[in-house]
Formats: sequence, C-alpha cells, structure tokens
Amino acid sequence: MSCNHDCKSCSSKCGKQDLMFENSEPNKIKKIIAVVSGKGGVGKSTVTSMLAIEMAKKGYKVGILDADITGPSIPKAFGITADVAGDDKMMYPPTSKLGIKIMSINLLIDDPRKPVLWRGPVLGNILKQFYQNVLWEDLDYLFLDMPPGTGDVQLTVFQSYPVDGVVIVSTPQDLVSMIVGKAVNMCKQMDIPIYGLVENMSYIECPGCGEKLYPFGLSKLEEIANEYELEPLCALPIDPTFNELVDMGAVENYDTSIISNAVEKLL
Ligand code: ADP
Repeated sequence: MSCNHDCKSCSSKCGKQDLMFENSEPNKIKKIIAVVSGKGGVGKSTVTSMLAIEMAKKGYKVGILDADITGPSIPKAFGITADVAGDDKMMYPPTSKLGIKIMSINLLIDDPRKPVLWRGPVLGNILKQFYQNVLWEDLDYLFLDMPPGTGDVQLTVFQSYPVDGVVIVSTPQDLVSMIVGKAVNMCKQMDIPIYGLVENMSYIECPGCGEKLYPFGLSKLEEIANEYELEPLCALPIDPTFNELVDMGAVENYDTSIISNAVEKLL
C-alpha cells in the first residue's frame, strides 16, 4: 500500500526488488514516464512525441524509449535512420535535432518494414537491454512509448522499470468504453501512479472560420477523468499538419505549445 517505487530505501520484502532491472553506472534518469493507451492508433506515439518535444524546448534533457516493440514509429517521426553505434557494453542512442535521445527496435533491425515476431522472454530481454545497455547518461525525463493494451511488455516495464507515473491517452470514441478503465486498473494493480488523461483527436478546427467541430462526438475528457478520479491533462485537436510533419520525419517542427499545460503537471 505504501510503495514509493524506491526499492533501495525500502525494507519491505514484497519481492519487487528482485524483478527490478539494475541501473547502469553512467545512467542517471530522474523521472520515467510511460505513455499508455487501451488500444492502438489513438495517438500514444503522438502524445509521447509532443510531450518529449515540449520538455526539450523547455531545456530539459529528454529521452524516448520506443517500447512499442512490435509497432515502433518514433524514429521515423523524428527522421532518425542512423545505425546505432556502441561498444562492448553500451549502445549509443541517436539524438534528434532538439537533442532528444531515442532508442527503438527499428534502429536495430535490418529492414524496419519486417514485422517483429518475438515471444515474451525475448521481448523481456530487449526491454532489459534498452534500460541497462543504452547510454542514456543524465536525463531529466525518459518517456516510454508503450504498446497498446495490457500485455507482456506492459507487465515487464511496470515490474522492472522504476516508472514514476503514467499518462493515459484516449479519444472521445474510446472513452465511452471500458478501455480507459482497463488501463487505470492495470496501473492500480501494479502500484503505478497516474499523472492523468490526454484526450487526442478531440476536435478539428475549421481552417476557414476557426469553429471547433467534434467528429467523434463532444469531448468526454472531464466526464471520464471524473469517473476514474484522474487529472484531465489536455484535449488535442486532429491536425493534418502534425501528420504531414510525421511523414516528413520532421515532427520536431510542430508547435507543441498546445500540450504545455499537460507538461506542467509532469514536472
Ligand atoms: P498509437 O501510438 O496510439 O498507435 P499514433 O500516435 O501512432 O497512435 O497515431 C496513429 C496515426 O494517427 C498516426 O499516423 C498519427 O500521425 C495520426 N495522429 C494521431 N494523432 C493525431 C492528431 N491529433 N492529429 C493528426 N494526426 C494524428
């Protein structure tokens, strides 16, 4: 009940210590924030990218670990195709234009179009290496872009990474279902604090008159946040400019000030 996720200073014999990955000496990561969603395609990678970019613009040292191992999309959005260099112990994560350190399975496989068909234990090992054998060095924030749902990777990350908290992403359409509830309950069961809820694709702004239109129905951010006792972090519009920049590998050129209120609540 009183878990503070700092196993080093805790005398409880809960067994969690045994599952935690050990930190590597050169890595000092102050906060780890996981971005989750109940299902794919709702904008988890979008929100991860925006949060990381806005943090980097504020001057923080930021990393993104693309833990969406079977559907990685972060390197492409940031225009990173570089091979990962390394020595016998550590992999050196490529760095984006804003200085964000990025690690993803897509940077390690020969052909990023090939599917990753690996079972749980292999995924677990990859996650361990991404934590221990990547030279993150000093980071203020490491964002984890998690796979959708509540599977093996989520379990490993929540048991073995010292995650400080979670941001849940959904859309107005998904919010009406129990999908947010599943993500909330997973975090509760695993003693992981939740920073709050981001509603993506909440509305679209008419480029002519600026009127807000709600293609998936009116925002349900406040309602669902209340239902699950979550902080409503922000509502993001559907913005075709964002998509264009992702396709060009230039997501860092996007104006991320729209998410700055949410960023304030993660500091
Ligand atoms: P997930 O990580 O949840 O699978 P993504 O963030 O990859 O979802 O988003 C799925 C697709 O929708 C991507 O092509 C992304 O660029 C696009 N997308 C997501 N959110 C927005 C948005 N607010 N405006 C425009 N396009 C978006």
